[in-house]
Amino acid sequence: MKKPVSGKKSIKQIKFKKAGDMPPVAISLASMLYNKTGKWRSIRPVIDLNKCTSCMLCWKFCPDVAIKNIDGKPYIDLDYCKGCAICIEECPVKAVRVEEEKK
Ligand code: SF4
Ligand code: SF4
Repeated sequence: MKKPVSGKKSIKQIKFKKAGDMPPVAISLASMLYNKTGKWRSIRPVIDLNKCTSCMLCWKFCPDVAIKNIDGKPYIDLDYCKGCAICIEECPVKAVRVEEEKK
């Protein structure tokens, strides 16, 4: 995986003069690689590759781009998984189970 360039100088910033200039949704121009959300997790998704059909819906819906497609199979990068459980909800064959995060 490509590593983010360190230092805030490499992150573009947009300054808005007034609130009305802002877009209707929050945006970020920085790469998702800056957002290591793994420490937010209270639950951990675990993929059973024996049940997985490689549909990659979990990859498509993961909001943190934490699921990688490696040779057609999904793998979760726990540095970026925030434990939102969307992949568990979206998997059509219930191949993703939930475990409590032990810290
Ligand atoms: S959504 Fe479920 S079946 Fe589809 S790739 Fe992910 S784990 Fe596998
Ligand atoms: S729990 Fe959420 S953040 Fe973690 S892999 Fe699943 S969809 Fe992505």
